[in-house]
Amino acid sequence: MVCAGGAGLVANGSELSGQRVAGSDRDRSSEHRFSHIVAKGETLEEIAARYGVTIKQLKRWNPKQTKDALHLSIGAKLKVYSRVPVRSKRRSFYVVKEGDNLRRIARKLKVDIDTLRGINRIKGDLIHPGDKIAYLVPGPEKASESVGRAFGGKLVNGEKLPKGPGYTYGRRSNVYGTNETITLLIECFGKIIQKYPKGPIIVVGNLSQKKGGGFGPHASHQSGRDVDIGYFHKESFQPVVSLVKTTAKNIDARKTWFLIQTFLDTRKVKYMFMNHELQKVLYEHLKKRRFKQSYIDRIFQYPRKSGGGGIIQHSDGHDDHIHIRFVCPKGDKRCED
Ligand SMILES: [Zn+2]
Repeated sequence: MVCAGGAGLVANGSELSGQRVAGSDRDRSSEHRFSHIVAKGETLEEIAARYGVTIKQLKRWNPKQTKDALHLSIGAKLKVYSRVPVRSKRRSFYVVKEGDNLRRIARKLKVDIDTLRGINRIKGDLIHPGDKIAYLVPGPEKASESVGRAFGGKLVNGEKLPKGPGYTYGRRSNVYGTNETITLLIECFGKIIQKYPKGPIIVVGNLSQKKGGGFGPHASHQSGRDVDIGYFHKESFQPVVSLVKTTAKNIDARKTWFLIQTFLDTRKVKYMFMNHELQKVLYEHLKKRRFKQSYIDRIFQYPRKSGGGGIIQHSDGHDDHIHIRFVCPKGDKRCED
């Protein structure tokens, strides 16, 4: 499972100087200015995470609307200077099954029930098996598809990871993924940037190429579900703006664990590949923080060096990045996990 890390990642100094003002309001570029309409049940924390900003910033930009932070009014317009890209949305459809009801469908699709009623012009809750319920999903007009395996597959309608002020990557031609991969990355980046607004900056290596397929020197990265992300380094080793060799000495275990946990929480991670000795650092970090042993064992292959379970597995060459593989997106019938 060779996955040569820094391949293609060229840190561009001038580009990054703009990004490193992370967290301050200096990056209030109009490009990322966005109006967020508050939906039912949304909290300030959720909204902040979605745009990679802090609750404090949201309050500063919207003093009137956030006066009562616990009770945002539905439909209120919040001004946001997003630190992650805000993507376009397209319609997708859910076919109603026997026994479904609107509330359950809304929960399953993770959308607000009133929004669902609005889009579909449904009054009340009356739906029938076979009805097509429209809902909005992030991504461009043409849906992507992950085909085959990560080692021998391809990517149809690959979506490029957009640039964002809170993270950096090298070559644009090497950052294509499925719509789901791009969604998961942007969601997780938002949460990580919210937590660490002053950095470290998130360094992204390669995903897949536009049409997927062979992508040497990587063995995988073929079907839009793989991504390489740099470890976080201790402050004394900053700034780190490209994938650099990471050791027990320079890794920031607490921040790197937060990054990993954010991705694990999506429940869409099939594997992560990390060097054995870096697994050890994180394993011990979790032990020290008194995580349950059964949880730790489910996450790490460590102390084993090969075989056995664990989402995080050892694979040579993963000392300058974590390789994350997502499971097949639901509905991609030709995808193989
Ligand atoms: Zn990789």
